[in-house]
Amino acid sequence: MNAKHNVSLLNLTPQCWYAIAVADNYHRAIFGQPITITSARDGHHMNQSKHYSGEAFDFRTRDLTTPQRQSLHTTLKADLAQLGFDVLDEITHIHIEYDPGPNSAPWVENVS
Ligand SMILES: [Zn+2]
Repeated sequence: MNAKHNVSLLNLTPQCWYAIAVADNYHRAIFGQPITITSARDGHHMNQSKHYSGEAFDFRTRDLTTPQRQSLHTTLKADLAQLGFDVLDEITHIHIEYDPGPNSAPWVENVS
């Protein structure tokens, strides 16, 4: 995983780091390159943005073709949505945030 020089990765949540690892693994497997994070807890975002609480990050997709970006978005969404992540195709980047709803699978299940 790479990050732009001005990106702050301090105090990201464990869920956010998990999603970074998943995105990086897919990106490496498909394109042979790590992701480049373009924003995490830095920058200017909407009020209430999950970026401010360390629960969101963006990574670069402007170097991908449209079909490549859409395919990666679909793949990541299929993997991460069930764990409570929103995966948004923002054209120049993909935004991923942890925003679990009532139907999200729990991170820890009691197994007997
Ligand atoms: Zn974002």
